[in-house]
Amino acid sequence: MSEKGAQALKELLEGDRGVFTAGERITGQGPSVELICPATGEALGSLSEASSEQVDTVVAAARAAFSSGTWAQDGPHRSAVLRRLADLVDAHAEEIAYLDAVEAGKVFVGSVEEDVPDVSGNLRFYADLITQSEGRFLQDATGWGWVRKVPVGVVGAVLPWNYPIAMLGWKVAPALAAGNAIVLKPSEDSTLSALFFAGLATEAGVPDGILNVLTGGGPSVGQAMGLHPDIDALTFTGSGEVGRAFLEYSARSNLKKVSLELGGRAGYIIDEEHASDFEGIAADVVGAAFGTSGQNCTASSRVIFVGDNDERFGQFRDALVAAAREITVGDPLAEETVMGPVINAEARDRITRWVEEAVSKGASVVFATPEVPQQGNWCPPTVLQDVPADSELGRGEVFGPVTQLVRVSSREEAVSAINDEPYGLASTVWCEDLKQAKWWTDQVRVGTLAINGYSEGTIATPFGGLRQSGFWGRDNGPEALDAYQEAMTVWVAQGLGPPREVNPGQEARSGTREELA
Ligand code: NAD
Repeated sequence: MSEKGAQALKELLEGDRGVFTAGERITGQGPSVELICPATGEALGSLSEASSEQVDTVVAAARAAFSSGTWAQDGPHRSAVLRRLADLVDAHAEEIAYLDAVEAGKVFVGSVEEDVPDVSGNLRFYADLITQSEGRFLQDATGWGWVRKVPVGVVGAVLPWNYPIAMLGWKVAPALAAGNAIVLKPSEDSTLSALFFAGLATEAGVPDGILNVLTGGGPSVGQAMGLHPDIDALTFTGSGEVGRAFLEYSARSNLKKVSLELGGRAGYIIDEEHASDFEGIAADVVGAAFGTSGQNCTASSRVIFVGDNDERFGQFRDALVAAAREITVGDPLAEETVMGPVINAEARDRITRWVEEAVSKGASVVFATPEVPQQGNWCPPTVLQDVPADSELGRGEVFGPVTQLVRVSSREEAVSAINDEPYGLASTVWCEDLKQAKWWTDQVRVGTLAINGYSEGTIATPFGGLRQSGFWGRDNGPEALDAYQEAMTVWVAQGLGPPREVNPGQEARSGTREELA
C-alpha cells in the first residue's frame, strides 16, 4: 500500500474534475463514468466525461495556445521544460504506478521499474533530439532556401488502457517536443494517471492549453475528436476496428493525418536446431506471453517450435510449464506479484469463452494456474496446444494470459505462420547461430523482430506494425518526431537580391539593343 498513491487517488477523485484544460481540472458536463478496480471489482469513484461542447472548447484552447505563444517557435525552451517534466515524473513514480495499479490492474513494481522510467526517458530523448533537429539548406541558380520542420498544430491522442502511462509518454513526448499542442483522451478504463501527469506538466512549465486531457468514452469523446475540424493530426493506439473508424472520421472531416498503432498476434519462434538453453528460453517466453496479463500488443500468443524431434519438443514443453508455474498471480500492489487481473469483466468473460471454445474443438490444456482470486477480473495463465485454426484463438488476438504451442517441421512453415497473418507488429526468434539468425531477419516481415530474447527495442528505435498492425508513422525513435512535424519549404528567389546576370558566363557587353542583338 502506498500512502502517496492513495492520497493522489483521493485528490483526483475529489470534486469530479476529469477534464484538464487551461492548466486546471474542471468538471465534465457529460455522463458520469464509474471507475472500477479490476483486481477487486469494486468502484473507486466516478468522473463525468467531457460533453461535446467541452471537446470544442478544449480544442479551441489548444489552438489558441498553439497559435499565440512562443511554444511552437522555441525548441530549446521546450527542451528545458520537457527535462523538468521528466524529473517530476521520476519523482512521482510511486503515485503514477499506484494509479495504474488500482485503475488498470498494472503490477505496481513493474510500473515503477519499467513504465514510469520509459516515460521520463522518452521525455529526455526528445528533449535532446529537438535541440539537434534542423531542416535542410539548399541553393541553386534560381535562389536559395531551406526545408523547415514545423509542428503539425493541434494533435489529438486517443490511448488504450494496457500501458496507460507508457503509451501516454510515447505520444506526448515527441508531440510536445515538436512544438504541438495536444488533446489527450486516455481510455475510459485508465484515466487517472493521465490527469495526474497533466498536473505535473503544468508544474514543469508546459504553457496552459498546450496539454489537455479529456475524460470520456470512445463512441462519445473519441469520435468527437476523430471528427473534429480543428484537430490537425490524430494519433491512436488500440484495436484495428477502432483504428479503421479513425480513418473514416478523417475522411468525413478535415483529412487530419491519422497514425494508427494496432493489434498483434506475435509468434515466438524457437529454431530447435540452434536453441540450447530451454530453461532460459522458457523463462523468456513466460515474460513475453504473460507480462501485463498478456494484454500487450506484442504478447507472444503463439510459441512456434521448429523441428520434428519429439524428445526435444517434450523437453521444451516441460521447461515452459515449469516456468509458467513460477508466475505469482495476485494483488497488483503486492511486491511479489508477477501477474495481475485482466482489465474488466467483459475481457475476462471473452478470454474464458475463447479458451473453452478452443478446447471444445480439440485443443489440449498444457498448463493453467490452478487457482486465481475469485473476486474481480481474473484469468489463469494458460498454455494450450493443437488449437484449431477455425477457433477464435486460432485466428484472433486474445489479448489475455493465454499462449499456444504450435509445431512446424520447417523454418519456411514458421515464416509463413508469421507473414501470412493480417497482423505484422512483432515477433521473436530464438536462434543462436548468427548466420541463420540473419536468414530469419531477411524472411520475417514484422515491425519489430527480436532475436534471442523478447524485446520491443528501446526509446530510440521506432515501434509500429506492418500490414493491419499499423498505419503511417511510428512511435519512439527519431521517426516519431517526424510523425508530429510537417516539412515546409521556404524558397528565396534570387530576383529579390542583387540584379541577376541574364547570360551567366558571358562577358558583359554594352551598346544599343540593336547592336547587342
Ligand atoms: P480500443 O480500440 O477498444 O480502445 C482504444 C481507445 O479508443 C480508447 O481510448 C477508447 O475509448 C477509444 N475508442 C473506442 N471506441 C471508439 C470509437 N468508436 N471512436 C473513437 N474512439 C474509440 O482498444 P483497447 O481495448 O483500449 O486496447 C487494446 C487494443 O490496443 C489491442 O488490440 C492491442 O493490440 C492494441 N494496442 C496496440 C499497441 C501498439 O502499439 N500497436 C499498443 C497497445 C495496445
